[in-house]
Amino acid sequence: MCYFEQTRWNCGYWKWGNFRQQCHKEYRTGETCGLKLVFQTSLLAAPCKLCDQRFKKERRIHKMAMDIERWQREGNRRATIEKTYQDIEEIQAQIDDLYRQHEQRQKTL
Ligand SMILES: [Zn+2]
Repeated sequence: MCYFEQTRWNCGYWKWGNFRQQCHKEYRTGETCGLKLVFQTSLLAAPCKLCDQRFKKERRIHKMAMDIERWQREGNRRATIEKTYQDIEEIQAQIDDLYRQHEQRQKTL
């Protein structure tokens, strides 16, 4: 068990930081035994990069949905609307993926 710094964002996501202290099981200089323990946690009062990406994609979907609404009122934009629906689905899948990665990380440690 070697000690590492940890960064934790206010959304619950975290990552390992610098190596701080070796444990008594590890005698090789500069090596770590593979089991990581928290030395110190720095809390960040901001959402993590995954959340940031997710928010951006959600805003994009929101904007596209408003475009679709407008195009439907205007008429004659069937192809564009269909294309945009496909784009939304794609982005939604990316959002789901980011969400899963985030969930998984929160569950560990
Ligand atoms: Zn996050």
